[in-house]
Amino acid sequence: MAETSIYLKDIEEIHRFYNKAKDLVDKYHFGYWTSYLKLLHVQINLMDSSIPLRLLMRNVVESLTQIKKNKYFLLEFKSLIIRTEIFILLKSEKKSKSFYQLTKQKATEITKGLPNEFIDSFMKKNYCDSDNPAHLLSPLAKMRSIGKLNWEEDLYELLTLRDTNRIMFFVDRIIKNVVAPYAYAIILQNNLSNHEQPFYVSESLKDEINSKEYRSAIELVFSKSSIIKKTIRGRNVVFLTFGIKTSKIGVFVLTDNGEMEFSNREISKINKLRLHLTSILSRITEYNRLNNQMRMMNEIIKISQKFFSISNLEKLELEIVISSIRITNAKRGFFIKHDKVGNYVFNVGIDSDHQFISDESGVSKTVLTEARNNNLPIYTNNAIIDNLLKNSISVHDYHLHSIYCLPIFTNNEFYGFLYLDDYHAEDSGMHIYPAFMDILKVQISIALENTIQFEKIIRKNKDLSRIDTIKKEFVNIVSHELNTPLVTLNGVSARIRRNNFKSEEEKNLTISKLKKSVDKLSGITSDILTYNKYLIMEKLKFSVEELKEIFEIILDEVNILAAKRHMAISLEIEEDLPKAEINWEAFHLMIYNLVINSIRYSKDFGKIIIGCRKSAFQSEEIDGKKAIVITVKDEGIGIPEDEIKAIFTSFYEIRDIYSHSSGVVEYDSSGLGLGLSIVKRIVDLHSGKIWVNSEENVGSTFFISIPAFIEKKNMEESRW
Ligand code: ADP
Repeated sequence: MAETSIYLKDIEEIHRFYNKAKDLVDKYHFGYWTSYLKLLHVQINLMDSSIPLRLLMRNVVESLTQIKKNKYFLLEFKSLIIRTEIFILLKSEKKSKSFYQLTKQKATEITKGLPNEFIDSFMKKNYCDSDNPAHLLSPLAKMRSIGKLNWEEDLYELLTLRDTNRIMFFVDRIIKNVVAPYAYAIILQNNLSNHEQPFYVSESLKDEINSKEYRSAIELVFSKSSIIKKTIRGRNVVFLTFGIKTSKIGVFVLTDNGEMEFSNREISKINKLRLHLTSILSRITEYNRLNNQMRMMNEIIKISQKFFSISNLEKLELEIVISSIRITNAKRGFFIKHDKVGNYVFNVGIDSDHQFISDESGVSKTVLTEARNNNLPIYTNNAIIDNLLKNSISVHDYHLHSIYCLPIFTNNEFYGFLYLDDYHAEDSGMHIYPAFMDILKVQISIALENTIQFEKIIRKNKDLSRIDTIKKEFVNIVSHELNTPLVTLNGVSARIRRNNFKSEEEKNLTISKLKKSVDKLSGITSDILTYNKYLIMEKLKFSVEELKEIFEIILDEVNILAAKRHMAISLEIEEDLPKAEINWEAFHLMIYNLVINSIRYSKDFGKIIIGCRKSAFQSEEIDGKKAIVITVKDEGIGIPEDEIKAIFTSFYEIRDIYSHSSGVVEYDSSGLGLGLSIVKRIVDLHSGKIWVNSEENVGSTFFISIPAFIEKKNMEESRW
């Protein structure tokens, strides 16, 4: 009945019967009638010029699969009629003729063997008895007004829109109205250069658009600026560029579902559409760019505020990684540094859930090396096809997609790497905006520099307060140490002034007291002066010396002092001792101080050995090179274990300053607590090291190791 109504041109009835039939067919799933109704629907839609003919053609072609499978000959015949009609409406003379021919052939085929009069009437009824395909047009098809482009209104609408999603909705509607492609994609220039997903792609084209055939055609059309038509897996595809004159902003891809090649008429429509889309898309790109920039600037401000509120380097490095993971959508991030020997040290390793990770497998060494060599950030969105990385083992073994590596500098010196990737991600969701990262890079450097500076100030502050404490102690000690001889001096000088001595003997005793106090005073002052002298000096003047001679001189000097305490001081100097580069005066003082301490902190009749030999153990060497080891060994009171570390500190004395006896070499007499500090400073100035073995009431051995002098020609044998 619907079909009859078509010939009666009763549109209302057509729809009423069609809908009734559709209800029945849907309810009972009649195979034949389902296919029939699909074709009928197309036939009805032929009159509606708002429905693109390509879409109707596609509907026919798509329903053919079922029709052919079930051998519905009559429906196949009907589909041929409709296709001929569509070609007629499309004004494609050649195609409509050949399809009319096919239709007539099919008619002959189905009526084969039937009585002639039946065949004649069948042919007549179906308008297959003519040479002019136009006869085939149904009354409804004839009602179709000549298609004009009715998308100007939509275009106007578009110009008033600001929201990208709404713009895309209208763009989609226009494209479907004008050409009705089965699927299409809009690929913008930065999608191409960043290997990202297209700006827009129809669901049914999502996977295929990344295939080799599509990719190569997209690249070709973009670089050559021509239109490319191709058949890819049974589909007709057209590739065109968006752009005006020479400036191209992207590529437009349209495909059918195998229904028919894009005709020249369609291509010229697409061309017109393409020009409009170009201006719309450049607006969208510009708009998105501005939007993104605003968003990024806000982010930068937030991140910087956070960075600058952190005053601890470790915490700052962690925050840098956390923020970077967040803004790039990375799966994990690292802060990587170099140690002294150049090995990578992973200071921070964290995933997108803020969980610490200790496993750094898959971090590409190629990327780190490359970033460091060029001092530039490295970014890839598809490492497997990236020329630089495609041969890298880690990229292959761990199937990495996106990697970003930023070499960071502070005060123009390399500091470390920020490293992000999407390790273990299903698909690459990481996005990097180079302009944004450039600003972030500067913020990171400034924040690091600030924090480094801040930590320095904190350290300086601690030093200052330590120096302050030392200064206070110093004033205490000095005033006590100076006070004792000064009091004596005062009394003695008053007595001398009065000059009322009972005897010559008493007078001599008083004068010798005066001398002792003056000696003590000058000793203290000279200690302080010496200490200051070496503390201030950055470098000493060196000469190459035979050490044996110095030890012999020292032995002569200390023997005189030790004699009254009945001590035995001996030398044990190894034969063939190499020379050393030293400052004679400082070296002498260093050993002299140690021996004087040994005398002071040993009882009368004690034994002291001054030794000198070549280094025997690795621990005695200096930077892995051979050294000379000097030892001063006594059998004195020793040093409590928990005090050993502190004895090299200035003004350090184990016992209360008031408990010592006075004098230069008297048992347990003490100086200012500066002797060992001076020794340590001189050792440092000789690039050496000092350590001590000591046991209470058994004795102490002080060790000093300094580099041996190696003549240039013997440089290679730096070990004994
Ligand atoms: P001082 O002027 O008090 O001797 P030093 O800096 O020379 O200052 O030594 C610091 C402290 O180390 C001494 O007060 C002493 O307690 C301890 N000390 C130094 N040498 C020896 C030693 N050979 N035996 C035992 N204790 C020693």
